[in-house]
Amino acid sequence: MSKKRVLSGIQPSGRLHVGNLVGALQNWVKLQDEYECYYFIADWHALTSQYADTSQLKEYVKDVIVNCLAAGLDPEKATIFAQSRVIEHAELHLLLSMVTPLSWLERVPSYKEKQLEVKDKDLNTYGFLGYPLLQSADILIYRANYVPVGVDQMPHLEITREIGRRFNNFYGEVFPEPEGLLTQFPKVVGTDGRKMSKTYGNCIFLSDSPKEVEQKIRTMTTDPQRIKRTDKGDPELSPVYHLHKIFSSKEEQDEVAIGCRTAEIGCIDCKKVLIKNLFTVLDPIWTKRNHYLEKPDELEDIIESGSKKAREVAIDTMLGVRKAIGLDSLK
Ligand code: SF4
Repeated sequence: MSKKRVLSGIQPSGRLHVGNLVGALQNWVKLQDEYECYYFIADWHALTSQYADTSQLKEYVKDVIVNCLAAGLDPEKATIFAQSRVIEHAELHLLLSMVTPLSWLERVPSYKEKQLEVKDKDLNTYGFLGYPLLQSADILIYRANYVPVGVDQMPHLEITREIGRRFNNFYGEVFPEPEGLLTQFPKVVGTDGRKMSKTYGNCIFLSDSPKEVEQKIRTMTTDPQRIKRTDKGDPELSPVYHLHKIFSSKEEQDEVAIGCRTAEIGCIDCKKVLIKNLFTVLDPIWTKRNHYLEKPDELEDIIESGSKKAREVAIDTMLGVRKAIGLDSLK
């Protein structure tokens, strides 16, 4: 029996961090054994908000590929490709734009939210409004069965399903309805206790050196009530403990929590345990990153052959799409 198909993408809008590793890449690695996976670097999506300055785009695309491979993605198992190298995404985006009511795009929650949140860029562009439509094209063009999503991303998938249905209603059954592969993504906090995000400048990047990671953890926010070594703390109020919950063993978590509450351990000792455990996760990633960074030709080959493979599926879908609309031939 053929495997079900999974589609997922990641935007190269900055360097990837530990939150991306835990929230997306580790899940991708798990899925590659069970499903036929298509993972793409959403470089066109990055342009929807970063069109004015593309000076770092190439660097960020490279960072995503290197980190995907370093985290354990295997190009023999999963198809890893760049969105912009499969130009059929753009054609489907255009054709879907013909059938998509404007109000469907305007009501996507992240559209208004991001416009309000991002103050330093002009997001009053068609590209930004059409972001969910491009995303729908990305998914539908692979006739994907599943898309890994967190609960808050469900509206994006729902609009894809609605657009696919609307297209099918007009032109016949072309697209299967993709389903969400609901995934519990742990919330990863940054060094200041807020969600780890490039916007907040609180990230531990996968490209950080061991020294930088150590420094970031050493200066990380703790429970504000633990001012002196003898002050008792509440681990639940400490971002350090939140990272322990992701990277430390259950036993270590318990030891840290008790030690914090009784003031038996100091924050420096607590952070040392976290640094050790983070290094255990990051060490193999750093080694593989160095390998790929020294071999740009190998990276280019991986992304080019992945894109060619993805394109075969996309071309095949577009033959059906053009035929369904009546754009295929005069006969
Ligand atoms: S002991 Fe650990 S968990 Fe408690 S406040 Fe210090 S760093 Fe945070």
